[in-house]
Parts: sequence; C-alpha cells; structure tokens
Amino acid sequence: MSKNENDDAKTVAITIHAPDRETLRELVRTHSFDFGCRPKAIEVDGGYSTPALVSRRQLAELGKERFDFEVVFDAISDDRTGEATIGRGDRFDGGRTPPQGLGSRPRGGSGDLGPIMNVGEIGSAMDALANEYGISTFGLPNATAEGKVSQGGSIGGIDVGLYHLYLTAGVHARERGGPDSLIYFISDLLHARKHSTGLVYGAKSYTHADVIRALNTGIVFFPLVNPDGVRWDQQTDSLWRKNRNPASATPGVEPTVGVDINRNYDFLWDYRLHFDPAVAAATSLASDNPVDETFHGQGPFSEAETRNVAWVFDQFPRVRWYMDIHSAAGEILYNWGDDNNQVSDPGRTFRNPAWDGKRGAAGADAYQEWIEEQDYGRVRGVAGRVAGAMHTVGGRQYKGLQAFGLYATAGASDDYAYSRFSANPGTNKAYGFTMEFGYPTNFYPTLTEFHQNVQDIGAGLMEFCLSADDAGLA
Ligand SMILES: [Zn+2]
Repeated sequence: MSKNENDDAKTVAITIHAPDRETLRELVRTHSFDFGCRPKAIEVDGGYSTPALVSRRQLAELGKERFDFEVVFDAISDDRTGEATIGRGDRFDGGRTPPQGLGSRPRGGSGDLGPIMNVGEIGSAMDALANEYGISTFGLPNATAEGKVSQGGSIGGIDVGLYHLYLTAGVHARERGGPDSLIYFISDLLHARKHSTGLVYGAKSYTHADVIRALNTGIVFFPLVNPDGVRWDQQTDSLWRKNRNPASATPGVEPTVGVDINRNYDFLWDYRLHFDPAVAAATSLASDNPVDETFHGQGPFSEAETRNVAWVFDQFPRVRWYMDIHSAAGEILYNWGDDNNQVSDPGRTFRNPAWDGKRGAAGADAYQEWIEEQDYGRVRGVAGRVAGAMHTVGGRQYKGLQAFGLYATAGASDDYAYSRFSANPGTNKAYGFTMEFGYPTNFYPTLTEFHQNVQDIGAGLMEFCLSADDAGLA
C-alpha cells in the first residue's frame, strides 16, 4: 500500500460532539465520513455525539472545524486483524462436526468458540446443522457476482405457511461475527431441544419451554447474505462494506467496486426523486456514485444478494417478523427509516407521489411516514424487549430506536420488509428490524469482544422469538 492510500483508509474511530441533533444532522449532510450502517446520535451530558470512522487526512481536516471530537481507537489494530481473529481451515470438518453456541454449553464450561468463521466454514457449519439435527437447507437462486450460491436454512417442517420468523446476517461485509452469531444461536436452539435443556447467555437465562416456544415460531434463516464481500474483507482487512459487483466500477479504482446491499432494496430506492433535495445530498441516505460506501446500484434489486433476501419472503409467505443482523452500534431499530413516524394521516405514505421531494427532513412538518398505531406499539415493544435482554447479558448498552434515528435511509432491508404488504397487495405484513450488535464502530471485534457479541446476540434473538410470539405470529 502506498503512503497516499494509507492516508485515505478510514481506520480511526472517533466520537464527534455537538450541542444538539440539528448540528449533528448538518455534520452528516456536509461530510462524507463513514458513519456505519446509518448515522446515530447518542445523548450525552449537555448534548449529543456521533461515532464515525475517518481517515488520517479527514481527521486533520476536522481539526480545523468547529466540531469537538475525540479519538476512540484504531479500527484495525493488531488484535483486530484477520490474522488474529479469522479462522483457518475448517473446524466443522466439511459438515461432520456441528457448531455449538455458548448458550447451550454448561455454565462454567468451556466458553471458547475459537476465532470468527471464514466463508468456507460458514457453509460447513450449515451442512453440519443439517447432518446433526436434520434441519432443511436450501440454495438461494441468484448466484453472486463471483458465482457463489448462498445457503439458507429452515426449522419448522415442510409447510412453508408455518414459518413466521426470518433472520438474516452478513450483509455488510466488515461487520464481523454476525453470521457466526446467527449460526450459533440456531445451534443453541437445536442442541437445547435435542438435550432437553434451557439456554444461558451471561446473566440472561431461558427455560427449555422457552426454547420450544422459540422453535415453534417457525424460523427461516440466511446467515451470509454477502459472501463475496465477506471473503474480500477477511482477505484484506479493508473494512469492506459492499458486495463485489464490478458492474459500475472504474477499472483499477478499488473503492468503486460493489454495491451497498442495504441501499439496494425496492423501498424509495430512487432517493433523488423521493427525498428532500437537501437530505438527498448526504451519502448516508444513499448514493448514485460507485465510489461511495452507500452506492445503491443500477436499480432497485439490481443485486443478487437483495433478490435472494426477497426470494425467501416469497417462498415463506407467512413471515411476520424479520430481523437483519448488523453491527456496530448497540441498537435495535424498528420501522420506519425514511422519516419520523406518525399515526394520524394514512395519506402521508411512501406510496404517495404527492410527497416526493419532501421526505426525510427531520423536524420539518413537510412529511412524516405513516404507521398504524397498533403496529407502532408492537415494533417499539419488541425492540425494547430485545434491547433489554441484550443489555442484561453482560451490561452493554442497547437501545430500541426508530430506524430513522439521526438521518434517513433509502432502500434498506427493514423498510422493504414492512413496505411489502402495502406495496404488493396479497403479501403478508412483516415487521422489519435491524439489530446493531456491539458498540459503536467496532466492526472488527477482538476475540474477547466477539465472544461477548455472540452471547448478546443469542439472548437478543431468543427474546425476539418470544416477544414476536407474544405479539402475534398469525
Ligand atoms: Zn450494517
């Protein structure tokens, strides 16, 4: 790597302080920093802060501005690199040795999962779950740009109408440990069912009856949505976010490769049409420039990865609850992500072209997204319970929040899930959530942090199953 490239790499995790949310929104609007999956505002004493990843050059520039900031850590230090944290070989022995999560191991027993799984191991782990527990696995229909056929799994019998929960992970390549955590959670459920036990995640425990209730929701899962991106990220430690589709890339310019899968869904995808032009100026919303981290592709569902996620919704038409696992923020996000929610005017909706050009401006009266009051209560309640369970595990901070948060997003999975039933009459209503595990900007956890993440997520997903069941699956 040349010195210039090193200067441009966004590796310094910082926290930027501001007196109010409006100032932070202005920062997001006017700076193309890397704010993670979506920008967030954290309430702190006497104001707000937002985490970001910046290059050394950007850090120097920021020093000349009015913002107050502090450096938190280097996102690629020695104990966070692939060398230190990504597994080699295949610990699941081509599907002959099943994975086992931390929740189903005896308390005080061996809590060592080893390193984060490489892409091959994720496939082996899926095969092993099928071999050991007899669950069904399926190949996703759209091969990725590099020709990879992804795998999903389902637990709940052959009647597709009995599946009500859908879990995905491994969308943003750099968010290490998401696919592992989903696979380990499923492994825990299956192990506990087979051996008639409950589950323990740190200070949070669940009974065997809880395990059976969770499994009876009917779970379909897709643990590695973006295999090309993850493989690349694990090889390069480049904090890679997008997939590896070269269709819009400039030859020889590495950052122009790939599409942000979580801006490519068919939900207000054409952001320049649907959003307030001032809001659309920020790359956090989405971008039509391939060099950006949030490049949204050549059209809605232009990517194999998003089409695969949608295909599962079509195959399992009674899915009611959807969770997309991301990091790193410490939040459970619920609908909507394009603007603040409102419950009074059903005419102000993403489907109504009269509001094009007005969406996404927080605080303004111009637009807010309609959500049915009962749905609003449901998604808020479930997100709160999931966040509470994750906090209980090891004391980390987790919050349930509306996805809009500090800034709008276009084309994200959670909003696509919840928009389906009104955009396509005849499809089931599916509540959409995004889990942001870990703590801000910690995309590359150390092995100790990875183990904590796996536990947090185990309890979070368990609570998601139970709270969804309480709120209603039908
Ligand atoms: Zn993400």
